Amino acid sequence: FRPIGELLREQAAAHPHQPALVQDGERLSWGALDALMDRVAASLQRDGVRPGEVIALCAATSVLQAAIFLGALRAGVVVAPLAASVTPESFASMVRDAAPRRLFVDAQAVPLLRPGEHPALVSLDGLAPGQAFGEWLAPEGSRPEPVRIAPEDAFNIIYSSGTTGTPKGIVQPHGMRFSHIQRGLAYGWTPESVALVSTPLYSNTTLVVFFPALAFGGTVHLMAKFDAGRWLEIAERERVTHAMLVPVQYRRLLSHPDFGARDLSAFRMKFSTSAPFDAALKAEALRRWPGGLVEFYGMTEGGGTCLLEAHLHPDKLHTVGRPAAGHDIRLIDDAGREVAPGEAGEVVGRSPGMMSGYHGQPEKTREAEWYSPEGLRFIRTGDIGRFDADGFLVLSDRKKDMIISGGFNIYPSDLEAQLREHLAVHEVAVVGVPSLEWGETPVAFVERRAGDPTSAAELREWLNARVGKTQRLADLRFVDELPRSAIGKVLKRELREGYGPPAI
Ligand code: ATP
Ligand code: MG
Repeated sequence: FRPIGELLREQAAAHPHQPALVQDGERLSWGALDALMDRVAASLQRDGVRPGEVIALCAATSVLQAAIFLGALRAGVVVAPLAASVTPESFASMVRDAAPRRLFVDAQAVPLLRPGEHPALVSLDGLAPGQAFGEWLAPEGSRPEPVRIAPEDAFNIIYSSGTTGTPKGIVQPHGMRFSHIQRGLAYGWTPESVALVSTPLYSNTTLVVFFPALAFGGTVHLMAKFDAGRWLEIAERERVTHAMLVPVQYRRLLSHPDFGARDLSAFRMKFSTSAPFDAALKAEALRRWPGGLVEFYGMTEGGGTCLLEAHLHPDKLHTVGRPAAGHDIRLIDDAGREVAPGEAGEVVGRSPGMMSGYHGQPEKTREAEWYSPEGLRFIRTGDIGRFDADGFLVLSDRKKDMIISGGFNIYPSDLEAQLREHLAVHEVAVVGVPSLEWGETPVAFVERRAGDPTSAAELREWLNARVGKTQRLADLRFVDELPRSAIGKVLKRELREGYGPPAI
């Protein structure tokens, strides 16, 4: 085990003039990053922020935001990066929960701030209230007192996506981050790697690639806001070798008119996680995009990770792969017993790097745990899946999204997969809505492909003719865009809540 602050110091010593963090016109060399990290760590120590205490960050992705994150780690301070795309109430509850000693903010946090209610603010851009960052920062050449960091010490608190309820603060230890870095060895990271980061730094999806990229001494290009055309332009110009993208970004990139004309030949490895990745889309990415494709299935809590090296298993694209080395993944029934081989159950997982728990919520932590007959601690995912004969995990749905209609279980993912086969369908989400007769009944929301003349009624009839009687859709609606979280997950909760009385 090595703390990340030390790993980065070695990289900076080895190639101080190589770029570490780049965004638009801004370029921070490894030497400059190392010095800035030291100044941030020294400033926190000067303020009396001790190892294990928390600071929070709520700002657009920037070189400065990333450097503060990294600098704090060097002082053993725990970082809570917060999303700005939340309600003021939800923001206030995250801040209350994390109880940070300092809150670093920029313009995008302004609508969320309530004067007088927050810990000491530091303003990154002069547009947000608080002490100006330049004044807060210790003088050039400042160095922190060295701190000792153990694998079980907290590294960061990441708030879960809130897809199924209120976001939970997940405490991830240094050892967990280090295990992601070690895994990076397999994916060709070197000091010559160039990563393009276009998802926010408050999401674990981003961080599982951001830290390995830097720990191996590469260059990270940051994009504050994803735009497919600009992404392709940067990827070509900067000879990008690695990127983490969520499935909806793959779809946007592959359907962009510039995709075919851009030279992406420098690519070595692309990654995906966080939401279901359609098998046909994976196949298209393999066909049209140089380099390997690795899909991770897991959760911010750690538990277990499955990974699919899609380029090695083109016949397994409908799966999320096999458990990562040292990860134990099992399936359990409603009574908490392991299911028989080949049967479906809730996925539970355990790994060398698991969350220590939900911050300040011991009872929520206990609910998320499952103990095996041998007494080992697992984390429950709330996802349903089964293993195929070769040990690849086939996910069906989140337990909370499963529809129980007239006593039958309906998996929305089955209906979604069938609908995607129709040319009119660009993206689709199926959810269960209340029904007097059936308890719940499935309805579909469809983003249609531009220019397709099929009507909603025709599309519904087309599907209903192909599925069993109990699976038939009660309604199908066209939408301009499905509601998504900042990390691209479809918010089925919003679709259900916004549905209103059934149209038919
Ligand atoms: P919350 O727990 O607040 O409801 P969340 O579970 O969406 O939010 P994350 O920890 O970011 O928050 O996401 C983990 C979940 O994302 C998994 O439980 C799974 O449902 C989904 N997921 C992750 N990777 C994949 C994948 N490769 N394929 C399908 N689903 C995935
Ligand atoms: Mg979750």
